[in-house]
Amino acid sequence: MNGASSRGTDKTSISPTTTERKIPPMCQHQPPCPTADSADRESARLVAHHPEQGWSLLCNGVLLFEDTGELLPDGQIIAPHRPLGADHVMTAA
Ligand SMILES: [Zn+2]
Repeated sequence: MNGASSRGTDKTSISPTTTERKIPPMCQHQPPCPTADSADRESARLVAHHPEQGWSLLCNGVLLFEDTGELLPDGQIIAPHRPLGADHVMTAA
């Protein structure tokens, strides 16, 4: 009686991840950031911030300028839409 349970099928997992070489800027955040064509695109996380140059890069590829203008990944330009009442309502206790 041989109770040897040797596994003969040794499947060395060959992951075919090298087939696709395109690396899209996937969002790794949870919850995921809104996409560039979303109306909520400005609430994506910042991935680069260059205040000295006046722009920020959002996770979804949107370039956000300090005058609230935007440049979308597909080249579309959003005109600045600075809110009229720029005063932030501070609720300091
Ligand atoms: Zn993200």
